[in-house]
Amino acid sequence: MYRCRVCGSETERAVHCGTAAERVRGLAALNNDRVNLLSSVFAGLLGWAIGALF
Ligand SMILES: [Zn+2]
Repeated sequence: MYRCRVCGSETERAVHCGTAAERVRGLAALNNDRVNLLSSVFAGLLGWAIGALF
């Protein structure tokens, strides 16, 4: 995902309005979502393990 430096709109193109667009989000946001998902899954597993122990 790119943001155009000229008109400020987000685009999938690396070039917009005749200029190179600035890269935003994309993989980083996806990784954050995965980290959040993994941590909630891990927390659920941890709670289950503690519940099984006691
Ligand atoms: Zn533009």
